Amino acid sequence: MKNIVIFGAPGSGKGTYSDEIVSRYGMEHISTGDVLRGEIKNGTELGKVAKGYIDNGQLIPDELMIDILAKTYDALPQGKGVIFDGFPRTIAQAEALKNMLAERKHDMGMMVELVVDEETLMARLLNRALEQGRADDNEETIKKRFEVYRNQTAPLAEWFEKEGLRHVFTWKGSKDLMLAEIFEAIDAENK
Ligand code: ATP
Ligand code: MG
Repeated sequence: MKNIVIFGAPGSGKGTYSDEIVSRYGMEHISTGDVLRGEIKNGTELGKVAKGYIDNGQLIPDELMIDILAKTYDALPQGKGVIFDGFPRTIAQAEALKNMLAERKHDMGMMVELVVDEETLMARLLNRALEQGRADDNEETIKKRFEVYRNQTAPLAEWFEKEGLRHVFTWKGSKDLMLAEIFEAIDAENK
């Protein structure tokens, strides 16, 4: 299977669709947010550093994040294809991922972009706050994360466009419809 970068704003469904892709295609999944939350839970030095950024809705510095990503990637079994969820979030991270994969004679495969309006995103994240109690799912921090997304991450869509990897899926009110479209695109890429 080709690798997949799943891309979108906070609450756009990156984790949810990644789980669906994993169960259909048996790919590996790297969620950088989950990796960081695991470090925080285990009380590691990295976790302590990460918590300061996450609780403020800010990004972890690129250099640190790129290092974490490479270590996580190299620990996975090879050949099944990997879904990158929450990485890259900056142009520097995208370039680093491209280089890291090239060094290993792998490539990015395809990018799946989830487009959801901010009103829907906010409602989903506030609902998730009730269910999962994530420290960064409160209205103030969510607004900061949207701003960081607009300023630092959204411009990356053009980078993927230029690489010829971008596939855009716009939320029309149905998860099943979205999933069907995403599966169709993945199947076409892997024919
Ligand atoms: P969702 O999980 O709903 O898509 P999200 O994209 O905001 O929302 P995560 O991907 O779990 O959530 O990330 C949570 C936080 O972890 C981010 O706000 C940021 O502080 C940090 N983080 C995760 N991935 C990266 C990354 N690639 N670069 C820098 N910081 C990151
Ligand atoms: Mg997530």
